[in-house]
Amino acid sequence: MKRPELRLHGARLRENIDAVRERIAPSALMIVMKDDAYGHGLTWAVENAERAGVEWYGSYDVRGGVEIRRVLERPARIFAWATSTDEEVDQALEQGIDLGVGTREYLQRVIARAAASGRRARVHLKIDTGLHRNGMLPGEWREAVDVVRTAERAGHVEFAGVWSHLAEASDAEDDEAQEVFLTAVREASATGDEPEALHLTASAASWWRPELRGSVSRIGAFCYGIRSADGPELDGLVPVAELTAYVQSVEGDAAVIGIGSFDGLPSTLAGATVGTPAGTRVLRTVGPVSSVVEAWPGAQEGDLVHVFGGGEHGESSATALAERIDTVGEEILTRLTSRARRVVVD
Ligand SMILES: *Cc1c(COP(=O)(O)O)cnc(C)c1O
Repeated sequence: MKRPELRLHGARLRENIDAVRERIAPSALMIVMKDDAYGHGLTWAVENAERAGVEWYGSYDVRGGVEIRRVLERPARIFAWATSTDEEVDQALEQGIDLGVGTREYLQRVIARAAASGRRARVHLKIDTGLHRNGMLPGEWREAVDVVRTAERAGHVEFAGVWSHLAEASDAEDDEAQEVFLTAVREASATGDEPEALHLTASAASWWRPELRGSVSRIGAFCYGIRSADGPELDGLVPVAELTAYVQSVEGDAAVIGIGSFDGLPSTLAGATVGTPAGTRVLRTVGPVSSVVEAWPGAQEGDLVHVFGGGEHGESSATALAERIDTVGEEILTRLTSRARRVVVD
């Protein structure tokens, strides 16, 4: 029985990267690689991003950052933002991975590990601009900056960046967050050189709100062609991955395909439309290991059904499927299990 396939189009990823970079210039693209590159597979995504000339890579944790470093053939910046253990900090120092630092406790540990190793930690200090998910509070910012500057003078740290994360819930809230961010940048710059990497925005704000962009933009979803759920279409960006499954049997007006909830396809997607050799059809039910699609004339075993993708066969995008079940665009992809074989198309 042929397994379902997640077909990966490297050319599309590289074209999306080009379109994103053109849109956000002169802000530099940091491509975000969390969740195994949004379900596409980290190694493949890094290889293609490197081919496209990307110079910044974002990883949730140091482990992912080390993996990115292993794949990269040329020097590039890697940024890991999760608060990490001492061992991970040591690895980051060894592998030249920039660290996002959002608590005083973590800052002290990073400085201590850098001092012990004789290496300089590249620190991006995080200001809490309202999301309350880690980040120095405005009231503790000045002190944190002083700690970084002191460690910088001692040769343990390079003050490489100031960053935060936006809620992207409303323009007004994001504007306020930017005010807090810019005040923090001003305070940091008043004590020494302005940190080179100033980054606040992810996909949606980077794309739609040019005035919020810093010198770097951390972008995941849009590079993979995943638009925001309930957001507008994006000019020049195409879904990078297509999920396909083969027809296993045809019984009357039901074509059974070999993919189900055990493969990570949410059973609540019943009723969505998929692409078949005869165009769009309804996905009637999603079972554990197989699903039923409304059959088409001449449907037979081995036919290919496009569950989601770029739309060429009448299928929906992963984001459109996500909208049906009220979740974020990338979730359909990140839920897929390894039973869906990753197949590189180009
Ligand atoms: C996920 C994430 C991003 C990227 O978000 P997208 O909307 O996928 O572009 C950027 N920064 C942080 C801290 C994130 O967690």
